[in-house]
Amino acid sequence: MVENLKIYIGGEWTEGTGDSVHKLISPATGEHIANVPLASTADIDKAVTAARVAQDEFRHWSAIERAQLLHRIAAAVAQDSEEIARIQTLEQGKPYYAESIDDIGEANEYFTNSAEDVKRLEGRVIPTTDRNKRMFTFNRPVGVWAAITPWNFPVTIPLEYLGPGLATGNAVIVKPPEFTPWGLLRLAKAFDAAGVPKGLVSIIPGGSTIGETLVRHAGVDAIGFTGSSETGRRIIAAMGIKRSIMEMSGNGPTIVTDDANLQAAADLAVYGAYYNAGQVCCATERVIVVDQVHDEFVELATKAAEKVQLGDPFDQATNMGPLNNEPTASKMDLHIADAANRGAEILTGGGRAEGFPTDLYYQFTILDRVPEDSLVSTEESFGPVLPILSVGDDDEAVALANRTHLGLQAAVFTSSLQRAFWYADRVRSGTVVINDSTDFWETFQPFGGAAGTDTGWGRGSIEEFTDPQTVVIDIGNVK
Ligand code: NAD
Repeated sequence: MVENLKIYIGGEWTEGTGDSVHKLISPATGEHIANVPLASTADIDKAVTAARVAQDEFRHWSAIERAQLLHRIAAAVAQDSEEIARIQTLEQGKPYYAESIDDIGEANEYFTNSAEDVKRLEGRVIPTTDRNKRMFTFNRPVGVWAAITPWNFPVTIPLEYLGPGLATGNAVIVKPPEFTPWGLLRLAKAFDAAGVPKGLVSIIPGGSTIGETLVRHAGVDAIGFTGSSETGRRIIAAMGIKRSIMEMSGNGPTIVTDDANLQAAADLAVYGAYYNAGQVCCATERVIVVDQVHDEFVELATKAAEKVQLGDPFDQATNMGPLNNEPTASKMDLHIADAANRGAEILTGGGRAEGFPTDLYYQFTILDRVPEDSLVSTEESFGPVLPILSVGDDDEAVALANRTHLGLQAAVFTSSLQRAFWYADRVRSGTVVINDSTDFWETFQPFGGAAGTDTGWGRGSIEEFTDPQTVVIDIGNVK
């Protein structure tokens, strides 16, 4: 059955006034599962106007009232989480049991964490020169945020903006891609159940045109963007003077040193390459291994790859589902062919898997002896591939890791504390994980790229959703 979705504008469920509909096709089954109405410019104006009106009232709610609202949202989401996870698997492709259920639970933490964080978001009292002055700061909401989000974590990433955004008194308009909006729209029923003021949240699925209209809109004060560096560049050029959080692409290296626990390094590098079918900004995009342990690492990684179970994402045994879309699968084809042409060896996998309902099921692939200048090494592949590059020593490993324009999250395997910090001090990356996967993260973790690379500037604390306002009082000038 095809679901005719409604979009969420100004607290109302509507088909909007746009004249086109996106046909949502499941990457898992190939079936036409839903119709997504695409908003018109008038619908976007309506959402922005409603957001401004609602936010003007909401900004006066106390921090504790806002925290209570967020806890009510989280409770409502928890009740619907299995249904949201099921829809997410159907539209995105990630395995239901191995990933999707936990993913929704984790996403919901952005509401509970933000509720707790805002209760402790304190201003400052600042010493003054003048003895009659008292100076202090408040964290004011910025206003109306537009969150432009990707398809790889279609529920989690919008909540990374909705949680802290609402907790600090903002309105948030989310624009998910037209091909993965259903889980988030299903989740939005929780906003009604929790009593979120109408207009404070809107969800308007669509592509670049709707995104760009929102980004340029004079009624939008701030942009939260998670997506590719290429799109990020366009958004920065379009948005003008607006506050922003920009979370973009990564090319996470995992470095394996000669004193590493090689079994752990192999298992976790493979995990980092197949989790969510490799469609993660901090996926293990390449492994840099020192020559001395290269052969043993390759043997262990090839063995670990046998545990990857590609299949129907609703099957309990499956730990890797299909890729989400054809451009991602085509990019994998291109990267693997390019590496092979440049002399890399394909140890396992190497292309699309046959016998599945769609052409998006991709074999887990290990490439060895990958030349540094191949696309799979220099660019983000965003698929289930583990490219292995070798180096002579630690200095070469750091140099190779840093010859990237995408320094988001790196991992280093070593048994030496001294080496761990030696690497942490030198690898140019927003996060360096020692002895775990590049795919390690927690919801509390500050997350973002390294300056000088194209990975953007991420989230550190809830304060980033506020403007600091200083208030100065003169206690001398009174009657
Ligand atoms: P994308 O850049 O193609 O699209 C992201 C969003 O931007 C979508 O909603 C899209 O419709 C919208 N968009 C496209 N063009 C636009 C424009 N001109 N103006 C406004 N909006 C526009 O990215 P994607 O393929 O959806 O996601 C994958 C990318 O996201 C990868 O590069 C991945 O590394 C990155 N990502 C980063 C993080 C992080 O935290 N750093 C997290 C997840 C994904």
